[in-house]
Amino acid sequence: MIRIELDLAVALYLCLGFLVLFFWLLLEARRKGEGYSGQENLWQCPVCFFWYIDSLSETLSRCPRCGTLHRKGEEGVKYIEETPKTTEGSVPSEQEG
Ligand SMILES: [Zn+2]
Repeated sequence: MIRIELDLAVALYLCLGFLVLFFWLLLEARRKGEGYSGQENLWQCPVCFFWYIDSLSETLSRCPRCGTLHRKGEEGVKYIEETPKTTEGSVPSEQEG
């Protein structure tokens, strides 16, 4: 068995905890940056007319309400790139894309 002082054991225990916390925060910060292009695209479903934001898809998107897949430029699909800051509840201006 290895004999160590109590203060050294406590210091090692605390350092290990801080190290784990540091790496966890580092991984969380990296994960948040992934998968987001920084651009919010506003789509309107042609089936249920539901407006939603899909920041990941630029050409093909799935409606979160009815699950329909639709393509940008398809008949009835409304698509707005980089949504302007609108207050909740207001109807955004329509743009054929
Ligand atoms: Zn829909």
